Amino acid sequence: MRPFIFDSAATPREAVETAQAWNAGTNGAAHFLAGGTTLIDLMKLDVMRPERLIDINALESSDFGRIVFGEGGLWMGALVRMADAAEHPQIIREFPAIAQSLQLAASQQIRNMATLGGNVLQRTRCPYFRDVSYRECNKRDPGSGCAALDGFSRSHAVLGTSDQCIASYPGDLAQALIALDATVDLASPSGLRRMPFAELHRRPQSRPDMETVLQPGELIVSFFVPAAPWARRSVFLKVRDRVSYEFALASAAVGLDLSDRVVREARIALGGVATVPWRAAEAEALLRGTALDEAAQDAAAEAAFSGAQAREHNGFKIELGKRTLKRALAQAAVMEI
Ligand SMILES: Cc1cc2nc3c(=O)[nH]c(=O)nc-3n(C[C@H](O)[C@H](O)[C@H](O)COP(=O)(O)OP(=O)(O)OC[C@H]3O[C@@H](n4cnc5c(N)ncnc54)[C@H](O)[C@@H]3O)c2cc1C
Ligand code: SF4
Repeated sequence: MRPFIFDSAATPREAVETAQAWNAGTNGAAHFLAGGTTLIDLMKLDVMRPERLIDINALESSDFGRIVFGEGGLWMGALVRMADAAEHPQIIREFPAIAQSLQLAASQQIRNMATLGGNVLQRTRCPYFRDVSYRECNKRDPGSGCAALDGFSRSHAVLGTSDQCIASYPGDLAQALIALDATVDLASPSGLRRMPFAELHRRPQSRPDMETVLQPGELIVSFFVPAAPWARRSVFLKVRDRVSYEFALASAAVGLDLSDRVVREARIALGGVATVPWRAAEAEALLRGTALDEAAQDAAAEAAFSGAQAREHNGFKIELGKRTLKRALAQAAVMEI
């Protein structure tokens, strides 16, 4: 057990300022504590070693803990529990991909505790990252190498990889947020800022340890999902080794705006197969203006995986990912809205 300082913040400003002041002096070792279902796990494994934990759960009684419909869409605070959003009747009806991505994630007990902000920032499940007896892991220890490149790569990514890291992004909600064009509000030391959610995560490139564009001390406040025409006709489909309590081997979040069977707009994000929540922009462009028949679905799936690169054990994800996307498109097309 490593010693750490534990305190709790009563306001967002206090949280941000405490983290910023600490990180400025100590190289970024203060972390916010939400549900703790990822952070505490990784502390027990000695993978994450925060020097200071700032509990933000007291903010739950403010906008951080609220689900609000209005101003053209859905606001979800960063401290909303996964279960509360997954089971919310209006989210299930109007933003089905959001609800489904959460219903299919983790277990009921974890969903009761875990928050939306913590969910999108969870770390990879790469076994070499989570086991400190493996010395080589550029994400845990920059410059140390990558044990997965020549190791067992079945769960690893085929899209967005680099020669420094091939770890797959593990979460589910992020794909639904990207497919539905969500934005994220951040409380920064310099004030509030908003950005497209799709810009939050960074591909590994030469710095796999830098997973997001968050500045030290920045706090996720909320997510906004616009009530776009494709939000109601949206689906999240997840394929995994067992039906519950398991991370995705492949997933697809799809939103469609159809006129008869012709696609006015398509939104597609892929999970389980990429190093970051992956927007399949080429597939979206290809579908726009076409009749959504089997040939169009095939073409979209081929486009989505055209840049895929497999290692020794994860080649199956390319075919699995294509099939998952095609099934999601087919399901979305016949939804009654
Ligand atoms: C056995 C198991 C199975 C799982 N299966 C799935 C699955 O199938 N799909 C899936 O999506 N997830 C799955 N998970 C992951 C789970 O959903 C996450 O652990 C959870 O969502 C994290 O939320 P939390 O509130 O507990 O985050 P915490 O553990 O409290 O925090 C996680 C990280 O986010 C940071 N953080 C938290 N909130 C904020 C904020 N507002 N602003 C800035 N930083 C913040 C923390 O500092 C920390 O670094 C699984 C977890 C377990 C243990
Ligand atoms: S794939 Fe990434 S997380 Fe896994 S061992 Fe390599 S560098 Fe570490």
